[in-house]
Amino acid sequence: MDQFEVIFTDLCTLMRKLSIDRCYGCETSQPSQRDHACLCATDEEIFSKNFNAAFDLLNKDKLQLAVKELLREKGVAKFY
Ligand SMILES: [Zn+2]
Repeated sequence: MDQFEVIFTDLCTLMRKLSIDRCYGCETSQPSQRDHACLCATDEEIFSKNFNAAFDLLNKDKLQLAVKELLREKGVAKFY
């Protein structure tokens, strides 16, 4: 496996986890498979359905880091 395949595999794993986290059927323990958006989805479906949410998560992490950095710079140490 080259490094891009490794990254892609990790990314797929992350997206599948996110798909389960965001699945209404999983959240409410629905017994019927039809209520699970997480099931029977191809990687393409998982990516297209969850890409924006994944991107928001990344942005949130970056935003948090930026805020912490700013607070540290300003010497407001107690907030981080
Ligand atoms: Zn589910």
